[in-house]
Amino acid sequence: MTTGTTSTPLVHALNVSKAFHGNEVLKGIDLDVHRGQVVCLLGPSGSGKTTFLRCINQLESLDGGRIWVDGDLMGYEDRGGTLHDLTDRAIAAQRRNIGMVFQRFNLFPHMTAVQNIMEAPIQVKGENKAKARERAMTLLERVGLSDKPDAYPSQLSGGQQQRVAIARALAMNPKLMLFDEPTSALDPELVGEVLAVMRQLARDGMTMIVVTHEMVFAREVADHVVFMDGGVVVEQGDPRSVIDNPQHNRTRTFLGRMQ
Ligand code: ADP
Repeated sequence: MTTGTTSTPLVHALNVSKAFHGNEVLKGIDLDVHRGQVVCLLGPSGSGKTTFLRCINQLESLDGGRIWVDGDLMGYEDRGGTLHDLTDRAIAAQRRNIGMVFQRFNLFPHMTAVQNIMEAPIQVKGENKAKARERAMTLLERVGLSDKPDAYPSQLSGGQQQRVAIARALAMNPKLMLFDEPTSALDPELVGEVLAVMRQLARDGMTMIVVTHEMVFAREVADHVVFMDGGVVVEQGDPRSVIDNPQHNRTRTFLGRMQ
């Protein structure tokens, strides 16, 4: 694949396969995500969505296929064409381009909201404290929490914690944001505030891959939806065509259960 042109997808996944103890979880996934696109991964539990997201971020190694992010191959190929894991240091360098938000907020419990956001820029990028703090405050404002810089995670609601987690991921200026069911651990009344931040992020042009069961969000915000089942992409396309007019029985059954 070529690099450097605007038409190059930011994420290019080719025939990705992955098994755990002989259980094939991903069976040849292809996906292109272009800059500024929001792609939602839909599908029943156990269909491989999280594993695929984790492969993009090298939290899992691939058994087959290749993933490029911004033209960089995730992993390295030996002369025989076999893919290997990179060193931890090289993986960390590639991951700087990628922000990830998990189902559970994973904030550092002993740090305040602003400290959570400042941590990576200071530790990883060597940014000075004043600059990191200033930027963290801007990010808190962006997620609607400018009044909570000194709150500890235990003093924040789940929705507020997740918004801090989003701000923390943004602090490294990622090119790509991965969201793994970011609202599924939240009480229903807190889901909206997190989705609102994600909507704004999408409007601002962030490239996002979102594993979600929030069909209204997928329908309104995604540029492209991918329906996975049993480790394969069953169908994909424009959200209105896939969600409102699915072509495959498996998609229909799944969507029927979601209503
Ligand atoms: P989804 O996100 O669609 O719910 P997952 O990617 O979490 O699906 O899981 C797909 C399958 O892979 C499931 O059967 C799950 O149990 C299995 N799996 C995921 N991670 C591991 C692991 N670390 N070890 C063994 N099996 C795993």
